[in-house]
Amino acid sequence: MSILVVGSVALDSVQTPFGERDRVLGGSATYFSTSASFFTDVNLVAVVGEDFPEEHTRFLNSRNIDLTGLSRVPGQTFHWKGRYGYDLNEAQTLETHLNVFESFKPVIPEAYADAQYLILANIDPELQMEVLNQVKQPRVVACDTMNFWISSKIEALKKVISRVDFLIINEGEARQLSGEVNLVKAARAIIALGVKNLIVKRGEYGVLMFNGHSVFAAPAYPLEEVFDPTGAGDTFAGGFMGYLANTGNLSDEGVRQAIIFGSVMASFNVEAFSLDRLKTLTYPEIEARYRSFKNMTHFQGVGEL
Ligand code: AMP
Repeated sequence: MSILVVGSVALDSVQTPFGERDRVLGGSATYFSTSASFFTDVNLVAVVGEDFPEEHTRFLNSRNIDLTGLSRVPGQTFHWKGRYGYDLNEAQTLETHLNVFESFKPVIPEAYADAQYLILANIDPELQMEVLNQVKQPRVVACDTMNFWISSKIEALKKVISRVDFLIINEGEARQLSGEVNLVKAARAIIALGVKNLIVKRGEYGVLMFNGHSVFAAPAYPLEEVFDPTGAGDTFAGGFMGYLANTGNLSDEGVRQAIIFGSVMASFNVEAFSLDRLKTLTYPEIEARYRSFKNMTHFQGVGEL
């Protein structure tokens, strides 16, 4: 099954302790789509400006991402500038220029209106809602957001959240959204908003999934070198939804496997700046790292335990 992705396509300027890059390819929907494209067909809806380099469009095309819904309009592409300190888990936003997103009205092409798998990547929650209202009967809806929208558009965001199957946010966002410091309490408060499953991303500490009846914990892959965490969350979400859409298996087991594929994809993405590592990644490398994850987390029962 194909996936419909709506979110930002951006030019990012990023500083980490290991270097910096100016106006490189980024954006929530870009990371998401590229990651998901290793598992299934992806249809992308977003907007870019006249300054968006043709080489980036060619790259997305090379991943077989359908760009019918990517509009190019007069103006500048969304631009995000961020910095990471030695604690690579949390980005500090230095500048956000919405640019062409300021007047963007997402129109879902007729051919995408029957999408079964929908990801509302990080974007203005009012736009997320407009998209949700245009997709007829999605089987699975996943949603991401960030502190910028939690503080500026909380009511719109809560309306969106009440309609999603998987809310995928980082631990700082979970605390901010719920007003609870303890993550278990935060999860309970967020599930009470109507979301069916909450996936909390914890950077180098992995992810936790809560759904009201069970909790699943996955570590992050221990890496010796992390260059740029930008997009790790979106790459996780892309692998997660891509695998679910590929198998259609929404059982607890299927969702757990999808979480590991998401973690595998995020672990590759942080190995280089921008989408550079995803550009060279191959499916056999993904499978090999999935196997390493399995070995790394396997332990035997003891007697009755
Ligand atoms: P992540 O590191 O997974 O949280 O996502 C990083 C990506 O989010 C970057 O490539 C940015 O271009 C994009 N981004 C940053 N701020 C926003 C925002 N306010 N709305 C939409 N996308 C954003």
